[in-house]
Amino acid sequence: MANLDTWISGAPRGKPAVSSVPGVCMLLLIPGPVTTRSAVREALRYDFAPWDNDFRPLYAGIRERVLHIAHGIPGEHATLPLQGCGHFITEAAIRTFVPAGGKLLIPGTGAYADRMIRLAREAGRIPVVLPVSPVAAVDSNAVAAALEADPDIGHVGLVQSETGSGIVHDPVTIGAVARRLGRRLLVDAVSAFGALPLDLAQQPEIDCVGFTANKCLEGVPGMAFAVARIDRVEHCAGNAGSWSLDLSSIYAHALRSGWGSCRFTPPAQVLNAFNVALDLFDAEGGQPARLARYTANMRTLYDGVRRLGLTPCLSPQVQGPIIVNVHAPADPAWDLQRFVDVLKVRGVLISNFYNTEQPSFRVGCIGAITPADMTRAVAAMGEALSELGIERRKAA
Ligand SMILES: *Cc1c(COP(=O)(O)O)cnc(C)c1O
Repeated sequence: MANLDTWISGAPRGKPAVSSVPGVCMLLLIPGPVTTRSAVREALRYDFAPWDNDFRPLYAGIRERVLHIAHGIPGEHATLPLQGCGHFITEAAIRTFVPAGGKLLIPGTGAYADRMIRLAREAGRIPVVLPVSPVAAVDSNAVAAALEADPDIGHVGLVQSETGSGIVHDPVTIGAVARRLGRRLLVDAVSAFGALPLDLAQQPEIDCVGFTANKCLEGVPGMAFAVARIDRVEHCAGNAGSWSLDLSSIYAHALRSGWGSCRFTPPAQVLNAFNVALDLFDAEGGQPARLARYTANMRTLYDGVRRLGLTPCLSPQVQGPIIVNVHAPADPAWDLQRFVDVLKVRGVLISNFYNTEQPSFRVGCIGAITPADMTRAVAAMGEALSELGIERRKAA
C-alpha cells in the first residue's frame, strides 16, 4: 500500500528545515519562530480532539505551567490562551483592559512599540506616545512625568524586550511608577517571556502580560497566552468589541466549562509540542538557565561580529540577550539579501529586513541554540563577507 505522504502529494511532507549543505540543520537565528528541538517537533505527530478527556488535562496543565513561570498567584491570576500570534494577544490585551476611547501611554521604544500603537489606534483606543531614546532603556521618571501630565491615561503599554532594537526595558521600575500613580500596566513580553524575569506576584499593577509559544519558550508557532489578574479581567466584560479577541470571554468560558476546555478550536498538536517544550524548559533550569544560555549566545555573537570588523548597533551596556542588530558595512558591495542568501547556503538563516533607522542586519540569540552554534554562525558571516567582497566593514 502506498504510504500516505506519497499518496496525497507525491512528495514527502513535513521535511525538516535543512540547509543546502547535506546533513547540516538550518539555524534559525531570527526572533521567532525559533529553532526548536527535535522532541518538540516530534510531538506534533499526534492528533487530538480538543474536547476529549485525554486533551483536557494537557490544556489545563499548560495553563498552570505558564502561570508558574509568570510567578502568577493561583486564584489571583489566570492563564488565558488565545489561538494565533503575538499581535493577536497584544491586541486582545489592549481591547480587554483599555476601554474603548481610553488612553494608553506607550513608550516609543521601536518597531514593536509602533505595532502596539497601531493596534491600539485601530481598536479605537487612544495611544499617547512617549518619545524615548532609541539607545537606552526607558526612563521611569519620564513615564511618571507623562502620567502626571495626563490623568486620563489609565494604562502604560510596555514592550519588555524591544525586538526592533535589542534593548530590554524594565517592567519593575515602570510598574512602580504606574502603581504609585494609580495606573495599570500591560506588558508585551512576546520576545522576553521565559528568558527575562517577570514576577506578577510582586507587581499587582500589571493587568496582563502577553507572549507566545514560539519565542523564548522554544515551542512551535500557533498559540499565544496572556497571564492576567482575575479581579481585573472579571470587570472587563464588554470592553473588547470583539468576541474572538476578548480575554474576559476566555476567562468566563473557563469558569463555565473548566480550565481544560477551549472556546474555539485550538492548535492541539502545537499545544502538545508546547508541553514538551515546557518539559525541556524545566529540565534546563527554567528562566534563569535560559537567560544564561541566551546571554552566552549573545556575547559570542556580539564579540564575534566585532572581531570580523563589524559594528553592533548597541553598546555592550544596553545590549539585551534576545536580538543583536549589527550596522550594515559601509562597503558599496553590501547587499542584505545577498548576505542572507550566502549565509543560508551555510545553514544560517537571519532576517532579510531591518528595523533600525540606519541599515543593519539582525540576528536572534534565542531558540534551541548554543554558543557553539553562534561560533559557527560568526564563521559563516566571515565567509559571507569575503564572498561578497566586503572590505570596509565599519558602519557608514
Ligand atoms: C515577535 C513579537 C511580537 C509578535 O509577533 P507575531 O509575529 O505577531 O507573533 C510582538 N512583540 C514583540 C516584542 C515581538 O518580539
